[in-house]
Amino acid sequence: MALPSDLPVVDHHCHLAPSGEGVGAARRFRAAGGTDLFLATQSYTALPPRSLEEYRVQFETTEAMARRIATEVGIRVHPVLAPYPVDLLHQAEVLGAAPATALQEAALDLAGTRIAERAAVALGEVGWPHFPYPEPLRPAVEAIFDRALRIGRERECPVVVHAEEFDAEAFRRLAARASRCALPAHRVVKHYQRTRLRPEEFGGLVPSYLARRDLVREVVRSPGPWFWETDFLDDPARPGAVLDLETVPRRARSFLDRFPDEAELLRVPFQDSVERVYGFRPEPLAGRGGTP
Ligand SMILES: [Zn+2]
Repeated sequence: MALPSDLPVVDHHCHLAPSGEGVGAARRFRAAGGTDLFLATQSYTALPPRSLEEYRVQFETTEAMARRIATEVGIRVHPVLAPYPVDLLHQAEVLGAAPATALQEAALDLAGTRIAERAAVALGEVGWPHFPYPEPLRPAVEAIFDRALRIGRERECPVVVHAEEFDAEAFRRLAARASRCALPAHRVVKHYQRTRLRPEEFGGLVPSYLARRDLVREVVRSPGPWFWETDFLDDPARPGAVLDLETVPRRARSFLDRFPDEAELLRVPFQDSVERVYGFRPEPLAGRGGTP
């Protein structure tokens, strides 16, 4: 079944690299019915940035990629900027813990500035390295994360959190932490969530679910806000490491094949949740009538 022409289709978290498929992947996303990509920055070089200037170049690369896709492919691309939490490990090794912490904080401030200038829509990914890291770095990791939450409050923007898989208790702890930093819970998005919880167990925080087939089926009837994402990595060396960029529009279409009368449910992740969390409402693209 074709996607309704008045329905935007949103992938809430992906990466695209100049050295990867890049614009071509976005073109496939549009051909499958996609309209909006939330494009998270990443390190585009072999080693993570060691200076604020290198983060500036990284963020500009993400912004340039977003503009290029918007112009050449005709979809909307919303940049999400922050120093990646895992970068800290390398930076602490080469610079020392204190300068590495200062660098991460300065890069967070820079991302906040770009958000205030409307070049990006959210701070992300922030949070914790997703594997064990040296215990002495823990205070730095915590301080950097609190800084991110405070910037979210100051800039009134969402904060996209990268962390291990969350259960209800972890959501509760994060909600308390956001509250201590005066950031409203609905501005905190947990990305790459793979477990469905009861709505009240999120503590007001927002899950962005990996768009795996089983998860899509499980969560599609949940009240919002929540999102679907692929976390597409655009790394030719790791094909299939995460979901392909065509996945969200494909899942939307196969849901409508099975439940043709329930298209309204898809407005939750694709319009209502974006409006609630980001403050703007994606609309369908003009002239999408010919969607296959
Ligand atoms: Zn990511």
